[in-house]
Amino acid sequence: MSKIYQICLLQPREFLQSEGERNVIKEINYMPDVSVNFEINGELYHVVSTYERAGMIGVRPFQYNEEVEEDLYEDNLTCPYCGYEDEDSFELSDEGETSCGRCGSEMEYERVVEVHYTSTPKKKNEVIKI
Ligand SMILES: [Zn+2]
Repeated sequence: MSKIYQICLLQPREFLQSEGERNVIKEINYMPDVSVNFEINGELYHVVSTYERAGMIGVRPFQYNEEVEEDLYEDNLTCPYCGYEDEDSFELSDEGETSCGRCGSEMEYERVVEVHYTSTPKKKNEVIKI
């Protein structure tokens, strides 16, 4: 009999670090790669971590946008496929390719830096009345 792996629903910020009580939503007979997506009972789940020894697969739910956003321009890097906003975008290099932390889809990005100027008064030029 092949080994059974339990797909466990993780809480936000939770990772598979111990063999504790888990919310098992499905069992399968192989260990998937981290970052694949499953559809289980009509819901989408992203594999965020695996724990081979315990036979556990940690997943988080997500949803794809109905339409892919073509050119997003947001304060943080935002996934065109699921809308996930990466609040650690500042850690990325100025441009390149990355994958979404929530749905695993790949995207290209470029950091747009806006330039602003500040000014403070120093000396007002005098007017000579003639
Ligand atoms: Zn995404």
